[in-house]
This record gives sequence, C-alpha cells and structure tokens, in this order.
Amino acid sequence: MAKISTCSSGKKLYLSEALAEEALLGAHVQFDFAQGTGPIAVYRCDDCGYFHLTSQGLINTKLKDFLASGDYKRLRQAAAWTSKLKHKY
Ligand SMILES: [Zn+2]
Repeated sequence: MAKISTCSSGKKLYLSEALAEEALLGAHVQFDFAQGTGPIAVYRCDDCGYFHLTSQGLINTKLKDFLASGDYKRLRQAAAWTSKLKHKY
C-alpha cells in the first residue's frame, strides 16, 4: 500500500473524487487556462488508489457546468482582481 500523500506519479493526490473535483474547479478560478490547457478531469490512480487531476480525456461534467455558469465568471473576476493587487508594482 502506497504511503498516504505521495504517489509515484509525483502528482498531487486527493482522498476522494469530490475533493479532486473541488480542486479542479478551484484551479480554473485561480488560473486563466488557455483553451486546451490545464486540468479538465479527475481520475482514480491505479498506482496510489487516490485521485489526481488530468488534462487528458473528456471534460468533467461538473467543471463543464461550472465554467458555463455565472458563478465562474464572478469568481474568476474576483481572483483576477486579487492577483492584480498582489503583483502591483
Ligand atoms: Zn497516484
């Protein structure tokens, strides 16, 4: 059994699919990924048995709904504003 919190893939692991999806949505709020880049789905790892994010495959349905929602645009704007302040001069 792999030691908790590490995986030979070197990827960050999530203890549940729900936590991974939360992180997936959060990543899209935090970073403005160009089309076709960034994580789009979560998967269970054969190696560690936990969940990772991936940029491969089909887009996660929760992420898809989230990106199409007004919530996303609002959070995204707030995040962009915060990062602007952080990097100001
Ligand atoms: Zn793993």
